[in-house]
Amino acid sequence: MPDLQQIKSTLKEYFGYDTFRPLQQEIIDAVFNHRDNLVIIPTGGGKSICYQLPALLLPGVTLVISPLIALMKDQVDGLLANGIHAAFINSSQTESEQQDIYQKLLDKEIKLLYVAPESLSFLDTIFSQIELSLIAIDEAHCISAWGHDFRPAYTQLGYLKTKFPKTPVIALTATADKATRQDICDQLNIPNAIQHLASFDRKNLSLEVRPGNKRIEQIINFLKDKPNDCGIIYCLSRKTTEAIAEKLQQQGYTAEAYHAGIDHHKRSKVQEGFINDTVQIVCATIAFGMGIDKSNVRWVIHYNLPKNIEGYYQEIGRAGRDGLPSSTLLFHSYADVVQLQKFANMSGNQEVQLAKLDRMKQYADSLSCRRKILLSYFGELIEEDCGNCDVCKNPPTFIDGTIIAQKALSTVTRIKEQEPIGTVIDILRGAQNAAVYDKGYQNLKSYGIGNEISWRDWQQYIIQLINQGYLEIAFHQNNKLKLTSRSKKVLFEGKKVSIAHLQEFEKIKEVAIEQ
Ligand code: ADP
Ligand code: ZN
Repeated sequence: MPDLQQIKSTLKEYFGYDTFRPLQQEIIDAVFNHRDNLVIIPTGGGKSICYQLPALLLPGVTLVISPLIALMKDQVDGLLANGIHAAFINSSQTESEQQDIYQKLLDKEIKLLYVAPESLSFLDTIFSQIELSLIAIDEAHCISAWGHDFRPAYTQLGYLKTKFPKTPVIALTATADKATRQDICDQLNIPNAIQHLASFDRKNLSLEVRPGNKRIEQIINFLKDKPNDCGIIYCLSRKTTEAIAEKLQQQGYTAEAYHAGIDHHKRSKVQEGFINDTVQIVCATIAFGMGIDKSNVRWVIHYNLPKNIEGYYQEIGRAGRDGLPSSTLLFHSYADVVQLQKFANMSGNQEVQLAKLDRMKQYADSLSCRRKILLSYFGELIEEDCGNCDVCKNPPTFIDGTIIAQKALSTVTRIKEQEPIGTVIDILRGAQNAAVYDKGYQNLKSYGIGNEISWRDWQQYIIQLINQGYLEIAFHQNNKLKLTSRSKKVLFEGKKVSIAHLQEFEKIKEVAIEQ
C-alpha cells in the first residue's frame, strides 16, 4: 500500500492539488485497504479523484462504469491531457478502434478503462487476461429503482463482484436517499461497503419557494437586482424553455433555450456560450448541466416543480459552486403536481415515483426550514434552522406541538412502524374501518388519542414532523412511517417540538389554487 507521501505527490503531480477535499483521503485509504465503498458526494465535490488517484498507484487496470457515453470521450481526453493513461470502450467506436484498446490493455498501457454498462459483456475475454485492480461505478444510483434515474443496463453490474471477489468496488453518486443507498449495496453485492456520506449542506445557496402565478413577471422582477449574473431556468417542457427565452430576449437578456429537440451543434453552442459568459441565461429542460463545470452560476430558477428532491437538489447545486452567495427560486403550482402525477403513473415504478413527488410537494408546501427538509431527505439532521431560506427569513407562527408529536410518535412505536401515514391517522382518530380492524388496532392504547384533531390537520402535522426529521417515510416498504434517531428525544427525553400553526397552510393553498 502506498504511503501518504506517495499519495500526496501523485495528487500534486497529476491533478495539481496540494490538499484533499473532505472525504477524499479516507476514501482513497479505504480503497488501498481493499474495502468496498459507497461514496455519496454532491456534484462538484470531487468524486473522480477518489478512483482516479488510486488507479495511478495500483498495479493493474481500474475499470470505470459510466452511463454517459456522450461524456466519456471528454472525460478520457481530460485525463490524457494530464498524462494519465485512460481509454474508453463504447458503442460509438469502430471494431478496429476497440481492437487497438484491447491490445493496449494487454500491453499494460492503460490505467483507467471507461466502459458503458451495455458494453461490459463484450469484455469478458479481455478481463480474464488482465489484472483488474479496482472497479469504479459512477452514477451508481442508476442501478436502483428507488433512485431517481433508473437504468436497466445497470442491474447486471452485481456480477462484477461475484466474478472478481478480490477486486475492491467503489460506487459513486451525487445523491441517494437511505433506501437507495441500501439498494445499491445489495445489488452490487457489496454488503460490507463503507458508506462515505459528504455533507449536503450548501450554505451559500438561498432557498425560496413561491406560488407559481404570473411566473414570467416574477422572473423579470427577480432579475432586476442581478442584471449581469448568469443563471439557469429549468422547465418541464421544451415549449416553455423557448417561450421564456424569447420573453427574456425581449427584455434585453442573452437568453437561450436548451433541450433535447435542439440539434446537437446549436446545443453545444449554447453550452459553450454559457460557459464563456456570452450567454447569460439558459432556459433548459433537465438535460442541461450534466458534466458542465461552471463555478459562477449565481442563480437557478425552477419554473416548474421538479419530480423529486434528488433532481431538485442536483439542479440547484449547479449554482454557487465557487462558494459565493447564490439564489434559488422554485415556483410551486398544483397544475404541475397534477402533470407530474400523470407522468409518474405512466412510469415503470409508479409507487416510488409518486412517493418521491409527494416529498417534493411537501418541501414546497413546508412551513419549517426548507434546508432542514432537504438535508433530512439525504439523512442529514441539523439542529438549527438555516436562516437562509424563505421560511427562516419570514417565519410562520409556531405553536407548541410537543403533545401532538408525542401522540403521533408513540402510535408509530406501538404499531411497530408497520403502517403508512393514512392508517396512523386512522388509529389516532379512532377510525372504524378495515385498515384498523383487520389488524386489531382498535385495541391499542393509542387508538383515538388524537380524535380532537381533524384528519387533514393530522396529515399536515405529520408532514411537518417528517420535515423536521422526527419521522421518515420508507419508500421501499410501502411508504410505512418510521421513527428516526430524533424521535427518541421526543418520546423519552422530553424534547419540545414546535410546529406551524395550521392556518398558515390555508393561506398557501389559497394562493396556489387561485391562479
Ligand atoms: P464530482 O464528480 O463529484 O461532480 P469532480 O470529480 O468532477 O466532482 O470534481 C469537481 C471539481 O473539483 C473539478 O474541477 C476537480 O478538479 C476539483 N477538485 C477535485 N478534487 C480537488 C481537490 N482535492 N482540490 C481542489 N480541487 C479539486
Ligand atoms: Zn431555513
